[in-house]
Amino acid sequence: MSAGEEQLLQLCPRCQYNLRGLPVAHACPECGLQFDRRWKILAGPTSSFRNTGQARLVRGLMIAVAPIVVVATLGPLFLLRAGGWLGWTVIAVSLPIVGVGVWLAYRKPRRFVAIGPNGLVIYQGGRTIQYHLAEIGTARYKVGFKCVVIDIGDETVSLPEYAFFPGAVFEAEACAREINRYLRGTQATDVR
Ligand SMILES: [Zn+2]
Repeated sequence: MSAGEEQLLQLCPRCQYNLRGLPVAHACPECGLQFDRRWKILAGPTSSFRNTGQARLVRGLMIAVAPIVVVATLGPLFLLRAGGWLGWTVIAVSLPIVGVGVWLAYRKPRRFVAIGPNGLVIYQGGRTIQYHLAEIGTARYKVGFKCVVIDIGDETVSLPEYAFFPGAVFEAEACAREINRYLRGTQATDVR
C-alpha cells in the first residue's frame, strides 16, 4: 500500500485537496468528487503536463511580456498628453489584450480531464462524464480548431484549448498523446 502511495494521485483535481493516505477509490473530503487515485490528470490545474519546462517557459514569457505591453501602451499617452486620440485608441485596444493575457496565464479553470483503469473522465460545468476505455478511439490535437478531439463510440468529444489548456498548446498535445499511449498500454495488457 505505502509502496504505491507516491504513484497515486496526490491532489484532488477539482479542489486540490491533499489526498495522501486516502483509499484508491474514494470521495474527496473537501468537495465530494468521486475520484480514483490511479487517475493520470491530463488537463486542469493539477495536470501532469502543467509544469513541464515548455509550459513554464510559455507562461513565464506571457508574464514577462505583459509589463512591456503596458509600457508600450502608456508611452504614447504620455507623449500625446491625456486626451490625445491616438494614445487613447492604443490604450483602448491594448489594455483588454493585456488583461486577457494575464487572466489566461493565472486563472485556474474548474475543469479537468483524467484517465485511469475506470476510463476517461471529463469534468466541466460541475458535471463529470465518464467514458469506458473500450469506447475510446483515437485522440488528436487539431491545430486549426485549437482543440483536442477524441473519437468515443459514434461521437466526437472535443476539448477546446482555451477551456482545458489555457495558454499552453503543449499541454493539449501532451493530453492527446497520453490518451493514445494509455489506450495502447491497456490493449497490450488485454492481449497478454
Ligand atoms: Zn476535491
